[in-house]
Amino acid sequence: MNPWFGKVLILVSLVSTVIIRAPHGGRSRKVAVVESRKGPLDIALLALVSITGMILPLLAIFTPLMSFADYPLHPVAFAIGVVVLCLGIWLFYRSHADLGTNWSISLEIREGHQLVTSGVYRLIRHPMYTAIFLQACAQALLLSNWLAGPSCLFAFLLMLTFRIGGEEQMMLEKFGEAYSDYMNRTNRLIPHLW
Ligand code: SAH
Repeated sequence: MNPWFGKVLILVSLVSTVIIRAPHGGRSRKVAVVESRKGPLDIALLALVSITGMILPLLAIFTPLMSFADYPLHPVAFAIGVVVLCLGIWLFYRSHADLGTNWSISLEIREGHQLVTSGVYRLIRHPMYTAIFLQACAQALLLSNWLAGPSCLFAFLLMLTFRIGGEEQMMLEKFGEAYSDYMNRTNRLIPHLW
């Protein structure tokens, strides 16, 4: 099938990500950071996720630089990709709405930081990471290029490996028993599974 069907959806995903995050990012930045654990590794991994999730797809879509790695878009991959993408965008929106000004791009505690355990946070502890994981899976399915398609999925899994334990440790130190109780009743990324 025409690869542009997948490419257009990847562009829709990129634009939605920016539109959803911009107002929340703006509001959060007005609240002072009282503790930051943003290290060089976190910054490097964030850069890697941005490159593989934004720059490589744009290069694959608009330039011939990576056309040597193109392959035909399969209708089944397209159909699954559409469903996964819709779920990812919805969860990205919901998790930003529920987390409010407690959001940070890195590991940070803000002034008056509240522990959020309602909305989608009632089901899992890291719905925003689940959303980004779903969007990265959609990129692998919809962008029919062996390099640019799956690259963000690998980069994001690498970032999660280094980040998630440190984030939970930071939340435990800040919120103590409230966060350990929350950990006992929820999974990390997938309800009832993990
Ligand atoms: N890991 C979460 C949040 C990602 S944003 C998710 O995937 O949905 C990262 C910031 O969110 C961290 O710096 C931390 O301060 C904050 N955070 C993570 N879980 C939180 C929670 N349950 N309540 C409030 N803030 C949280």
